[in-house]
Amino acid sequence: MSDVAARPARTDVFVSARAEAARRDAADPLAKFRDAFVLQAGTINLDGNSLGSMPRAVAARLERVLGSEWSQGLIRSWGGAGWFNLPETVGDRIAPLIGAAAGEVVVGDSTSVSLFKCIAAALALRPERRVLLLQGIADMVPGVSLRAVKSTGSFAEAIDESVAAIVLSHVHYRTAQVEDMAAVNRAARAAGALTVWDLSHTTGAVPVDVKGTGCDFAIGCTYKYLNGGPGAPAYCWVSPELIERTRQPLSGWMGHKTPFEFSFDYQPAAAIRRFVCGTPQILSLAALDAALELWAEVDLAQLHRKSRDTTEFFIELVERTCAPFGVTVQSPRDARRRGSHVAFGYANGLQVMRALAAQGIIGDFRTPDTMRFAVAPLYIGYADIVRAVAALHDILQTRIWDRAEFRG
Ligand SMILES: *Cc1c(COP(=O)(O)O)cnc(C)c1O
Repeated sequence: MSDVAARPARTDVFVSARAEAARRDAADPLAKFRDAFVLQAGTINLDGNSLGSMPRAVAARLERVLGSEWSQGLIRSWGGAGWFNLPETVGDRIAPLIGAAAGEVVVGDSTSVSLFKCIAAALALRPERRVLLLQGIADMVPGVSLRAVKSTGSFAEAIDESVAAIVLSHVHYRTAQVEDMAAVNRAARAAGALTVWDLSHTTGAVPVDVKGTGCDFAIGCTYKYLNGGPGAPAYCWVSPELIERTRQPLSGWMGHKTPFEFSFDYQPAAAIRRFVCGTPQILSLAALDAALELWAEVDLAQLHRKSRDTTEFFIELVERTCAPFGVTVQSPRDARRRGSHVAFGYANGLQVMRALAAQGIIGDFRTPDTMRFAVAPLYIGYADIVRAVAALHDILQTRIWDRAEFRG
């Protein structure tokens, strides 16, 4: 069999890859951040774009919230412990990561709800237009027609005078393809449409500049590369040019100008505070706040460079060792158009991913055939990648993925 003949050559590839990985890890200016996370020996979290690893600072913070702010402070902690302003103080930690200024980002509600709030707010700003341009199909707002755009890069042609807003992901969740944000914003603006960007697979890994590229609305997830914990609340950003004219549909008392007056006439709070709906999830927000502390020390240029270099290294190693088994590369080959994860096609990918997970290598599978691996630059190193690809190669070569335990 050709596999047997090729085996010694591929073993050599892994030997030199291990040496190269050791060199790169030793020279990595971000390697010091690994200590800020609770990393289990033997487990490699290559699914940090589904659930980021846990920063050490979170446990101590939650202990403080439980042991004193809530149990002792009770209702006084809304002011005394800064709970009331937490949606904005946490937002201020995220702002520099997306090119926004302090006071422009607010955190609360899920990613889906945040997206709904921004889409509805955008539609209200364009009442005469009734078309939403979306990537894929969604059914969010009754009475509005949705025009789905299948392939990325085809937005410019689909925009016309009837389009109120364009809703799209900056980094595609499956392939990691990066949209040309500036070009989409320019085309939208020229046609009088607004843009709503989903930065879930961007924030904390991929360069983005919401103000510099002229975005109107942006939302993003915080439990992926921001490591805020399971179900951590999402964030919303609205362009300062629009915010004072913007009303979001889930207007709750916490987003009111004077929340304690309970007045009949709803007056939204100034600036981005109006995007808060009801009482914020303090336990989740406190965990997220602690998880975000370390970002003040992160050099974003180094972060983005490492994301590109590690995903490149990952793809090259898979191409050299796993392509002979029929594995294909589904992520863009151009690092500038690629997010921080890599996607590979393989018909039995689901079973392969289960076999990898059994060895402590956690990635995920997206139908129909995508094996997806995220490289979170703060806690994944080159040696982790070599270990993962060597395991992948071994699973493909021995076909242990075909065992009963990985089926069904
Ligand atoms: C992760 C992710 C979400 C998650 O939404 P939830 O409301 O938190 O479940 C939504 N949109 C995109 C593009 C995502 O990547």
